[in-house]
Amino acid sequence: MAEIETIGAGTPIEADAVIIGAGPAGLFQVFELGLLGIKSHIVDTLKHPGGQCAELYPDKPIYDIPALPVCGAQELVDRLMEQIKPFGPEFHLGEEVVELKPREDGRFDLATASGTRFVAKAVVIAAGLGSFQPRRLGVEGADAFEDKQVHYRVRNASDFHGQRLVIFGGGDSALDWVIDLTGKATSIVHVHRRPEFKAAPASVARMQQLVTEGRMKYVEGIAAGIKSADSRLTGVTVKRTDGTVQDIEADHVLAFFGLHPKLGPIAEWGFELDRKAIKVDTAKFQTSVPGIFAIGDINTYPGKKKLILSGFHEAALAAFAIAEHLNPAKKVHLQYTTTSPIMQKRLGVNG
Ligand SMILES: Cc1cc2nc3c(=O)[nH]c(=O)nc-3n(C[C@H](O)[C@H](O)[C@H](O)COP(=O)(O)OP(=O)(O)OC[C@H]3O[C@@H](n4cnc5c(N)ncnc54)[C@H](O)[C@@H]3O)c2cc1C
Repeated sequence: MAEIETIGAGTPIEADAVIIGAGPAGLFQVFELGLLGIKSHIVDTLKHPGGQCAELYPDKPIYDIPALPVCGAQELVDRLMEQIKPFGPEFHLGEEVVELKPREDGRFDLATASGTRFVAKAVVIAAGLGSFQPRRLGVEGADAFEDKQVHYRVRNASDFHGQRLVIFGGGDSALDWVIDLTGKATSIVHVHRRPEFKAAPASVARMQQLVTEGRMKYVEGIAAGIKSADSRLTGVTVKRTDGTVQDIEADHVLAFFGLHPKLGPIAEWGFELDRKAIKVDTAKFQTSVPGIFAIGDINTYPGKKKLILSGFHEAALAAFAIAEHLNPAKKVHLQYTTTSPIMQKRLGVNG
């Protein structure tokens, strides 16, 4: 693995606790640490908090959150965000933690792919099923052009102005970019595998109108190959749903097939894994490395159930263990939020 110094040149952020993953478990970890007076930094590959709830099933109802007979998945995330507000966590969204290494002074070095660095006294891995990554084009040769001429996200829209584009996908991202870039790109061919779209009906109607006006083209089919010459991508082969095959010339290919979780760098951090989950004890939810804890779907122990409820419980116990890790000489007593003046002060509720 590359040395941490190679990733980011900036001054590292010094933190008591860094939480990797802003899913429900990571968000509740902020709360439990906050009650004990510990401030968190929380990092997620996604640009928004909520993990699986926000990314995979935001509109679905959840029925097994204690005291909430029914709660929408996005609503749960919104409620957690509200609950952790008093503790002022620092969010680092759209950033994937790619390195985690113990230091000689007992703290940990962390670095994200975009160069943010932390030196943390304790780390909580709340990484769920892994870091959400874009689904790839899945045709031979596409990897070689990734981020050069094959793109799964738009960093700078003006890069595509005056270019010939093929845009894949039937969701909101694909349709939004088709509509936005029409008239700015030299040409646009939009490719989607079936007549139904996940995107908002108004966007689909707008795209169809642009096709009718002859301002862009639409093809129903899937990517079947990459065309290249002299190490440059020159186009893409599309297999239409009617079985015919068509080569489309392009300077850039954009594909928006949604995101899926991938364990990613965590698999390389040296933890003992069992079926892609990190082994922890059930008193502290600590990994084999003292000071690094793992909660939520990413951990495993006898009887583990991958439920939001389990992540909440694990966050509470991990918080006590982290408080003791940060200050071994001080015993952490259990206090009730109902009656503890210090907790109420931290919550900002005692006037
Ligand atoms: C369709 C569906 C329905 C469900 N219904 C229920 C239900 O009714 N009740 C219930 O209890 N559970 C339900 N679940 C399961 C529940 O969503 C998970 O148990 C829960 O989301 C786990 O929370 P988490 O915080 O551990 O992980 P996640 O929600 O997976 O969040 C982890 C976050 O960590 C981030 N991450 C990972 N690696 C990195 C990295 N290296 N750097 C930065 N960020 C990283 C990811 O991007 C992700 O956002 C359901 C799941 C699905 C898919």
